[in-house]
Amino acid sequence: MDCLFCKIIAGEIPSTKVYENEYVYAFRDINPQAPVHVLVIPKTHIASADEVTPENSAAVTHVFEAIPAVAKACGLTNGYRVITNVGEDGCQSVKHIHFHLLGGKQLPETMA
Ligand code: 5GP
Ligand code: ZN
Repeated sequence: MDCLFCKIIAGEIPSTKVYENEYVYAFRDINPQAPVHVLVIPKTHIASADEVTPENSAAVTHVFEAIPAVAKACGLTNGYRVITNVGEDGCQSVKHIHFHLLGGKQLPETMA
């Protein structure tokens, strides 16, 4: 499958890892929008939040179970934001579900 994030997980494309376990990989976004901007992804391919089903939702659970450890690894002691973009209107550019972890400053209240 020609998927950028599957290639990052496989180590075929380099990335700056901040956390990894059996199910989850977290790495620095190449174009950070905040002092801390990390992408947290499941190691299994799901295209987007719109493709989550009872059969594959454990991958998303694993991501959320890892998020506190990712935040800790990034020194986010005062909160952060988790965002997943979906499809065209959501401006999703990479079709492997990913959760943006943003923080390291007071984030703006508005998101849309
Ligand atoms: P989306 O727009 O799909 O929600 O987010 C995709 C994110 O992936 C963007 O924030 C973009 O900067 C990041 N990104 C795209 N290509 C690469 C890459 O090759 N390496 C890393 N580390 N991040 C990438
Ligand atoms: Zn993928």
